[in-house]
Amino acid sequence: MGVPSVFLRTFGCNFRCAGFGMPRGELSMEAAGIAATHSLITPFQKYEELPLVSTGCDSYASWMPEFKDLSPMLTSEAIADRIMEILPHGEWQDEHLVITGGEPLLGWQRAYPDLLNNPKMKALKEITFETNGTQKLTPEFKGYLKKWNSEVGKELTFSVSAKLPCSGEKWEEAILPEVVCEYEEVGTAYLKFVIATEEDRDYALKAASEYRAAGFKGHVYLMPVGGVESVYALNNKAVALMAMKHGLRYSDRLQVPLFKNEWGT
Ligand code: SF4
Repeated sequence: MGVPSVFLRTFGCNFRCAGFGMPRGELSMEAAGIAATHSLITPFQKYEELPLVSTGCDSYASWMPEFKDLSPMLTSEAIADRIMEILPHGEWQDEHLVITGGEPLLGWQRAYPDLLNNPKMKALKEITFETNGTQKLTPEFKGYLKKWNSEVGKELTFSVSAKLPCSGEKWEEAILPEVVCEYEEVGTAYLKFVIATEEDRDYALKAASEYRAAGFKGHVYLMPVGGVESVYALNNKAVALMAMKHGLRYSDRLQVPLFKNEWGT
């Protein structure tokens, strides 16, 4: 948090996470309602116009097919040019590249080497993949990342937001310790669990012990649920206290109080 970062958001996800913020067993229909408006009534022109949701995945427009028209298909050259425009000095200095989604480790693994080999990306020193921790690295991409990370001054991190049952996803499809342990072979990884209740905390502790049993060495964070301030403010302190009690790390959501979780933040 607080590190100047460029976010590259890829389209598509293998999950839906419609359970966030809902009573157990129920799924959010908020994003589906917005998608119906977009497809059938009044199309939104850009991401920034889309309503925020208080339940379900707060990045819904980065994977729901109904919103694909808002995500341009860009060449790696065009992406590198756009990044240069965004960087305050027109070149990489202290900035960090965060590759997120959707789920950024789907088929996009094939495309990253071309982008990272672009001469404009040469001075980039830190990359973080924000992943749900379910996608194995292809042998080719794993080899590429190992080499990238071995260069002097480069640092690669996997921020793994593994999905607990409150997301609505199935445990056996979401908690895949062997996949995350493989990320640690090429960079640093940490786990981040979204927590709303004591039940979520218990699931987080259970999951953390499964990852540890598989050999996971990284840090474990608890993060309060809440894409909107009203929900976030309800449980951030309680989650911080839980983290302290169990010797885990606490992850805030800086973008919620600062930017109200607007698109692009
Ligand atoms: S894994 Fe992340 S991007 Fe995908 S649906 Fe869940 S919260 Fe949204």
